[in-house]
Amino acid sequence: MTAERLDGKRIASEIREEIASEVAKHLALGHSQPCLAAILVGEDPASQVYVRNKERACEKAGIAGRTFRLPATTTQSQLLTKIEELNQDCSVHGILVQLPLPKSGNDGKGFDEREVLDAVAPLKDVDAFSPVNVGLLMQGRHRFLPCTPHGIVQLLHRYQISTSGKQVVVVGRSDIVGKPMAMMLAQRDGSCGSEVANATVTLAHSRTEDLAKICRTADILIAAVGVPEMIRGEMIREGAVVIDVGINRVGDRLVGDVHFEEAMQTASAITPVPGGVGPLTIAMLLHNTLLAAKLQATNNL
Ligand code: NDP
Repeated sequence: MTAERLDGKRIASEIREEIASEVAKHLALGHSQPCLAAILVGEDPASQVYVRNKERACEKAGIAGRTFRLPATTTQSQLLTKIEELNQDCSVHGILVQLPLPKSGNDGKGFDEREVLDAVAPLKDVDAFSPVNVGLLMQGRHRFLPCTPHGIVQLLHRYQISTSGKQVVVVGRSDIVGKPMAMMLAQRDGSCGSEVANATVTLAHSRTEDLAKICRTADILIAAVGVPEMIRGEMIREGAVVIDVGINRVGDRLVGDVHFEEAMQTASAITPVPGGVGPLTIAMLLHNTLLAAKLQATNNL
C-alpha cells in the first residue's frame, strides 16, 4: 500500500482564502480591521522567522499584524505591563506571546511563562492557552480552539476522514497539542460537527508501556512528540491515517515524528513534514483573530 499524502498546505490556503473573504465582509459591515499583536522577546532566530511568517499571513488575509519586539533583557513585570497595555487597547483583537521566552530574560532568572500566558485577556487569547478557554474546550462549549489541533480537525474534516467511533491514539500530552487534541476528538460535537469528534481516544506519553502495541490499535494515529522519526512502520496499523505534528531539524532536513517512508507503506493516508500540519497552525491563528474581532465588535462576550 502507498499512502495518500494529506496536503495541509493546500487546505491551509483554502482556509486562508475563506478568512480573507470573511474579513472583507467584516469590514464591509463597518467594523474595524481585525488586528493581531505579537510580542517577541529576544532574538531567537526560529521565533523571528515564525513571527515574520505570521505577519505575512495576516497581511494576505487583510488582518493587521503588529509585532512588538522586546529585548532579551526585558523583565517579567515589563512584559506583564506590555500585555496589559494590549489587553486595554481596543484596536487590538488578538494577542500572542511568541514562545519560547528567552531563558536569560527577567534579569537572568527566566520568565514565569504560566504567569505571562495567563495575563493575556481570555477574549484576546487567540492561542487558546488561557485556563478560561481551556476550560470552555473541556466542557464542549469552546470559544477559541488551540491552533494546531484545530488545524488537524479541519484537515480531517476537509478530507472527509471521520473520527466518529474510531480508535484515535495521540502520542504526546503537551498543553499546546496533545491534550487539547485528545479532548477535541473525544467531544460529542466538535467544531466540524459530530463526525470529527466522538472518537475513542488514547493519550500516550513517555511513561506509556508498550507504545508500539498501543499505536497499532489506532485507526488514526497522531504523533506530537518532538522525537525525530520515532514512530516506525511496524507501529502503524495497516490502513491507518497518520497525522505527523512533529517538526524536527536533523542536519539540514526537517523531519516529523513519524518515519515517513516506512509509514507510506502501511498507512492509508499521512501528512508530510513539511507541508502537513504546520501551515494549518497559522491558518487557524488567523481564524481565531477574526473570531476575536467579531466577538469584540458585536460585544458578544
Ligand atoms: P512537548 O515537548 O511539549 O511534548 C512532547 C510530548 O511527547 C510529551 O507529552 C512527552 O511525554 C511525549 N514524549 C516525549 N518522548 C516520548 C517518547 N519517547 N514516547 C512517547 N512519548 C514521548 O512538545 P509539543 O507538543 O510542543 O510538540 C511536539 C512536536 O510537535 C515538536 O516536534 C514540535 O516542534 C511540533 N509542533 C508542531 C506544530 C505545528 O504547527 N506543526 C505546533 C506545535 C508543535 P511526557 O509528557 O511524559 O514528557
